[in-house]
Formats: sequence, structure tokens, C-alpha cells
Amino acid sequence: MDIELARAWVRGIAEAVERDRERLGELDAAIGDGDHGENMHRGFAAAVEAVDKLTAETVGQVLTKTGTTLVSRVGGASGPLYGSAFRAAGKALAAESAEPEDVGAALSAALEEVRRLGGAQAGDKTMVDAFAPAVEAFESTDTAASGEGAADAAEEGLRATEPMQARKGRASYLGERSIGHLDPGAASTALIFRALAEAEQ
Ligand code: ADP
Ligand code: MG
Ligand code: MG
Repeated sequence: MDIELARAWVRGIAEAVERDRERLGELDAAIGDGDHGENMHRGFAAAVEAVDKLTAETVGQVLTKTGTTLVSRVGGASGPLYGSAFRAAGKALAAESAEPEDVGAALSAALEEVRRLGGAQAGDKTMVDAFAPAVEAFESTDTAASGEGAADAAEEGLRATEPMQARKGRASYLGERSIGHLDPGAASTALIFRALAEAEQ
């Protein structure tokens, strides 16, 4: 990954989120407060503006800028979680370009940060249920296909959230009534990894 690819990734996320803004909102309306599409759209539109203006010297600076923008522009659980994740990934990539192994390590650092901040375990019906299998796939798939592998795993992780009962975040207030719906944060995580795979092509 180089600086331009990092920028293209952030742009790709913003485009995907804009396309799926309504769907993310509907998923969140079913088990939360309905703002996930708006939150993601506001955050990533601002992140694209910020990284386009940035004269970056390292890949990490693009991701860190994305993270700080998300933290400052998105209220709600997803802003600080994704924001800290991108900052952790940025901190791990302090060079002009990064090998796939370095990107894998950075994604792993990002996941750790989400877990540390949010305290969610696998099966709690959160973004972690898409994020964790994606990182695992990224690190274990052939480097040429690691982005694809991660995106496929994130989408599978998203589908697996449907029968789960939420144990973190707003959806957990619903108890058993959260069962039978996809988790909105897992859906946005799937978009983020699909955008990475597409940027890498
Ligand atoms: P809010 O719930 O504050 O309105 P969003 O709607 O933007 O925020 O984001 C909701 C998503 O955030 C959930 O679908 C879930 O994936 C994720 N989430 C919420 N709490 C946690 C947590 N503690 N750990 C990991 N992810 C979480
Ligand atoms: Mg919400
Ligand atoms: Mg909210």
C-alpha cells in the first residue's frame, strides 16, 4: 500500500457508504437508533476532504488523519471505534509504502483497539464479528488475494450476525428482540474491507 492507495481506499469507503447510506440506516433503525448511515456518511465525507488536502509523507498519516476526522465528526459508538481503529492502523504504518504483511499487522492493531475500547467479544453482534474474521483472512490469504479474502470473510461475518443476540451497544437494550437482524456496524465493516480489496486492484 502506498499513499495514493490509502487515499483511494478512504475515497472508496466514502463512495460505498454514500451508496448504502439508506440501507445502513435501516439496519440501525431495526435494532438501534437509525443513524448509522448518516454517521458513516458524515464521517467519511469529512475524511475524504481532509486526506485530499493533506500533504502526506507516509501511508500512516493518511490513515491517522482519517481516524482523527472520524473521532471529531462522528458522534455515536461507531465514530470513536472506527476513528481509533484508523489511528491505530496509521500509527503502525510510518513509511512511504507498506508491504502486505505490514498492512496485515496494522489491521490487526486496529482490531485490537476496537476490542480494547468497546470490550466486545466474538458473537456479541458488533462490528468485531466482521472485523475479526476479515483480519484473520487478510493475514492468512495469499498476498495477491488478501484484500479479496478479507472482504469475503467480513461479508460472511456480517451474515453470521443475523441470528446473534446483541450484547454490546444500543442493540443490546433489545435483548432477544435483537435476534434476526444484521448488525449495522458489521455491515459498514464489510463495506470498508470491500473498498480495500477494490482499491488494491
Ligand atoms: P450508535 O449506536 O451510538 O447510534 P452507530 O449507529 O453509528 O452508533 O453504530 C452502531 C454500531 O456500532 C453497532 O451496530 C455495532 O456494530 C457497533 N458497536 C456499538 N457498540 C460497540 C462496542 N462496544 N464494541 C464494538 N462495536 C460496537
Ligand atoms: Mg445508531
Ligand atoms: Mg446514535
